[in-house]
Amino acid sequence: MLSATARAHRAVPDELKDRVILITGAGDGLGKAAALACARHGAQVILLGRTQAKLEAVYDEINASGWPEPAISVLDLARADGPGYFQLAEQIAKTWGRLDGLLHNAGILGQRAPIEHYDIGIWHQVMHLNLNVPFILTQILLPVLRNSLDASVLFTSSGVGRQGRAFWGAYAVSKFGIEGLSQTLADELRTEGRIRVNCINPGGTRTRMRAAAYPGEDPASRPEPATLMAPYLWLLGPASRGVTGQSLDCQ
Ligand code: NDP
Repeated sequence: MLSATARAHRAVPDELKDRVILITGAGDGLGKAAALACARHGAQVILLGRTQAKLEAVYDEINASGWPEPAISVLDLARADGPGYFQLAEQIAKTWGRLDGLLHNAGILGQRAPIEHYDIGIWHQVMHLNLNVPFILTQILLPVLRNSLDASVLFTSSGVGRQGRAFWGAYAVSKFGIEGLSQTLADELRTEGRIRVNCINPGGTRTRMRAAAYPGEDPASRPEPATLMAPYLWLLGPASRGVTGQSLDCQ
């Protein structure tokens, strides 16, 4: 029901005007599409990722379109430590004083293998980037999120984060964790009423990750990221005010 509402949403041109929105993994795939969609609708976007050239390409596209000038934060989330996170929070506090949206989008697939043979090192990498990093980033950014009158935290889930599937290993387990993190945080913040917390499942989408997961699939059989942005805009913007603790599907 909520997913249908979100999918049917048609954002007005200035819907995200004056909102400061941080997007992780903003240089490629769904994160890039979300960054462009948010900027197109008036948001000031903070593009966070590990590959500077990709972030600069998104920056240039936003600038050339005349949308609000974005900011770039180059941070390898697999390696980030205390000072890296702290600097980011401090930069946001100094520059804008608040954060209105936080899209946890960066993720890795890891290995497609049975649990019995899953590489323990890869397991740790996937759990760290897909689950621990969203926890740490959210915790460190809560003070600036609290400075917003209507903040939205959005975690990226997956179909295999709701129903386990053979050979999806740490990726599936990390996405189950994301659903749990989202529900737990939403419940903790419900009474404050200022920060809503939800999950979004984009569904199979034409990106590099999808191609790696399904090498035999015709990429053209999956939708382009840009076609799935209505629920992202709905959840990150004022239209979904009051909605929290939910998990929505883009497809
Ligand atoms: P992509 O692989 O296309 O993009 C992933 C993004 O995450 C890239 O921008 C990548 O940066 C960034 N990233 C990876 N590692 C790090 C790191 N260490 N530090 C900072 N950034 C990093 O994936 P998708 O766009 O397909 O996926 C986006 C989200 O959607 C993920 O959470 C994924 O699990 C989820 N999802 C995707 C589905 C799909 O079918 N595509 C289906 C269901 C869920 P760089 O480009 O520099 O490597």
